[in-house]
Amino acid sequence: MMSAKYLAQGDLSAWLGALAQGRRVLVPVRENGAVVFRPYGPGTKPVLTRQADSPPKESVFPSTERLMEFSYSKDAENLGKVALDIKETVNAPATVVFGGRPCDARGFTVFDRVYDTKTIRDPYYAERRASTLFVTLACDTPETTCFCNSVGSSPVDADGSDVLLTPVDGGWLVEAVSERGKALLDAPALKDATAAAQDQAKAAKEAAEAAMPPAWDAAPAAAKLLEKFDDMGFWDDVSAKCISCGACTYLCPTCYCFTVTDERSGMKGERIRTWDTCMSFQFTLEASGHNPRPTKAHRLKNRVGHKFSYYPDIHKGPIACCGCGRCIKLCPVSVDIREIVRLAMELPTATAGKP
Ligand code: SF4
Ligand code: SF4
Repeated sequence: MMSAKYLAQGDLSAWLGALAQGRRVLVPVRENGAVVFRPYGPGTKPVLTRQADSPPKESVFPSTERLMEFSYSKDAENLGKVALDIKETVNAPATVVFGGRPCDARGFTVFDRVYDTKTIRDPYYAERRASTLFVTLACDTPETTCFCNSVGSSPVDADGSDVLLTPVDGGWLVEAVSERGKALLDAPALKDATAAAQDQAKAAKEAAEAAMPPAWDAAPAAAKLLEKFDDMGFWDDVSAKCISCGACTYLCPTCYCFTVTDERSGMKGERIRTWDTCMSFQFTLEASGHNPRPTKAHRLKNRVGHKFSYYPDIHKGPIACCGCGRCIKLCPVSVDIREIVRLAMELPTATAGKP
């Protein structure tokens, strides 16, 4: 942490208004019974008392985006000769994501190791990532489905955030985490934090960590899941009630798979990228009709194995799950990824081996 300020609850809209000058600011708001991230404007009432139902993944990785426009033109002297013109359409507006939880910001660190590396750089992702700052709220009211403390994180983890807010009497302690975040603290709505506010924030962080369900270390799952790779009886059991809806992937802050389609009309068109889901039968369906993951058991094995075994193996440690618990809370048939991992690790499960 670099410097600390204090934001009174009554000054929240003033700070949000200042942040929104020349940028889009995305805040969690209630919409049709769910809490989702939407642009802040006059009268917007942010919901800061609970985790949003969907993470702010769209801020950097939109569910649908145009990658390029293309057009063909024919040579009037030689109709068999066609010229192709391609225009890339990177769209990276200056953005602040306000009020996400530490797991939401940390989710993008999972993306970074895939889309913005020394050898591979996805310009659409990388430019939006560079133009987006995360003002994160320390999570002092974890839900029963939260398990960030079992996957190498905590409810007050600042990894991936630019600014961290911690609830204190009458407002929040506001701490810059990155140089870019430090610039956001230069605002009249923020006052210098008193020593008392800093002490309260320290106590609040300790209380948030203590409020979490007991931690269990998920790191050994990497080897245990490999041992289960060919045990299709195990995967049949744990996937029995899955209906392959894909909600777990769409709501996951760390799922980053996509598909690409070309939409063409006459001599012009556009290339579109949309989220994809490995829980769908079509995800690995080959043109020949062969499908290397023909059953939902194969597909769930891939989803769990990728997050807890293959990704940590490729990237030397980090688990590709931030423990947000959304896939547990919002799965329509209550498939519980914690239970599957714990079963693979031969740890006791809350549902007596019936995830
Ligand atoms: S949300 Fe649940 S039912 Fe839907 S695909 Fe995921 S595990 Fe299966
Ligand atoms: S796998 Fe589930 S708990 Fe883990 S980050 Fe994704 S939605 Fe959250």
